[in-house]
Amino acid sequence: MIERTRTDDTHDPTLRSWVDSANDASGDFPIQNLPFATFRHDFEERPRVGIAIGDQVLDCLEAGRAGCFDSLNPAVRDALQSWSLNALMALGRADARDVRALVSRMLREGGAHAEATERLRDRVLVPASRVSLLVPAEIGDYTDFYASIFHASRVGALFRPDNPLLPNYKWVPIGYHGRASSVVASEASVRRPVGQTRKGSEGAPAVGPSAGLDYEVELAMWVCGQNALGEAVPLARAEERLFGLGLLNDWSARDIQSWEYQPLGPFLSKSFATTVSPWIVTADALEPFRAPAFTRDAGDPQPLPYLDDGNDRAHGAFDVILEASICTELMRASGLPPHRLSASNTRSLYWTPAQMITHHASNGCNLRPGDLLGSGTVSGPTDDSRACLLEITRRGAEPVSLPGGETRTFLQDGDEVIVRGWCERDGAARIGFGECRGVVRAGG
Ligand code: CA
Repeated sequence: MIERTRTDDTHDPTLRSWVDSANDASGDFPIQNLPFATFRHDFEERPRVGIAIGDQVLDCLEAGRAGCFDSLNPAVRDALQSWSLNALMALGRADARDVRALVSRMLREGGAHAEATERLRDRVLVPASRVSLLVPAEIGDYTDFYASIFHASRVGALFRPDNPLLPNYKWVPIGYHGRASSVVASEASVRRPVGQTRKGSEGAPAVGPSAGLDYEVELAMWVCGQNALGEAVPLARAEERLFGLGLLNDWSARDIQSWEYQPLGPFLSKSFATTVSPWIVTADALEPFRAPAFTRDAGDPQPLPYLDDGNDRAHGAFDVILEASICTELMRASGLPPHRLSASNTRSLYWTPAQMITHHASNGCNLRPGDLLGSGTVSGPTDDSRACLLEITRRGAEPVSLPGGETRTFLQDGDEVIVRGWCERDGAARIGFGECRGVVRAGG
């Protein structure tokens, strides 16, 4: 078992970077963050590993060629030269921690490697505005959980008023296997899916473009390291498998979903597109924002022993604020800013990331570097923390009003959904996740 790092000098809120834009206190990417992405320069096809600092990207291929990573072990150096984050993820969390610690010393004011790096700035830094940010890893498998009890209860009440929360919910971290091939990066447009739906409870279904297109605000959990097939991941070691966190929008066609989901769960209502944010905030960068696991109601069962230990109870959750906004085509044409639909916090998840990882591997399922786990819709207890339109509009019964006079039950063509995430608390530097956005395009 490796101990959690706790906070160290890389989290010091007084650190500043010689990259000026990183010192904006309201920015997402200060020196205390240093998230990873895969990006492509406008002038070439080859993807590269990058690290965000302010409005710049540290080009790890160039930085490695320039000798900036010579103090790292050769396997880590090679991983930083590769075409995606999978190689670094395969090495594991401790190596990613070493990279972040070194880059902090390269980019902070007065850092041990700051002068040498600043001399190379034109070679190793590129403005984020001049690169394309990609899906950060080649995703072998994508699993989506259902870890907000508030989302599960509200959705359950809409579909099964007499029996909203199924009896397994408080015992099992519920999930289903999603589709890795249709995970797209932020800014990719999302085509409205065609599918089979049935109006009412009788009669034949029809085929056509979904009339119930929705978003779901989720936390993305990126897996590192590997366990052999047949080998479980004990809870005490689960955090070694968490490379970092990002944002995820699980686009969902509710009308297709409600017709197809029984008995085996969602299928084509989800697999047409899932958008992820390009930046992965490492679990180590999030150390100042650890939180106790969800406080269960007095009458709820405690987790079974394989999903329970003191460390996870005390520090297993993350304190991340997630916000969803919408900007319709009319709003854009009228110059109106995006309208906030919800803000919620990942502390309201009933299960911690470590519990989800441990449960996932408890049957011997092998989790591989680059695997993507979604948390499920991160809804909280209050009305303004309902993190999808299904909940906000009560399945279309209560349309939401938008600036400019429009209303929405579900998404229309041209609507853009923007998900943002950040962490802030006294005594720590604010860090952010960037954005996860996509515009709905006509389908059919
Ligand atoms: Ca979902």
